[in-house]
This record gives sequence, structure tokens and C-alpha cells, in this order.
Amino acid sequence: MVSEWGVWSDFAGGFIYGPCDSTRAAEAARDELIEQGEDSDDLRVRGLCPDHSDEAQPADACEECN
Ligand SMILES: [Zn+2]
Repeated sequence: MVSEWGVWSDFAGGFIYGPCDSTRAAEAARDELIEQGEDSDDLRVRGLCPDHSDEAQPADACEECN
């Protein structure tokens, strides 16, 4: 079960913020980054793979689990 979330950047191909312990915290961080000039289309909140959060793998597309 996912218990950590981060702000994912498609452009960077990885998490640029996190992990956070709630989606709300991650969404607030995303809003903050957009306010600082990051592209809103590029950033989204994704859950971290609970087995590979150390490697910052997204839960829905973990490279280690797949
Ligand atoms: Zn995994």
C-alpha cells in the first residue's frame, strides 16, 4: 500500500520533490513549485512504490517491480 507521495516531473523523468506522507502535502508542494515557475503540465503527484521508495520509484510504474 502506498504511504508516501512525491511530485513527479515527466521532463526530469523522476521525482523532484518528496517523499511526503500525504497526497495533500505533495499537492501543496506541487502548487508551490508551479508558483515558482515550474510547468504545471509537467508536474504531477504520484505515489512511491512501497517496496522501492528508497529508489524513488513510482508505485504505478516501478522499474524494480516490473
Ligand atoms: Zn517496486
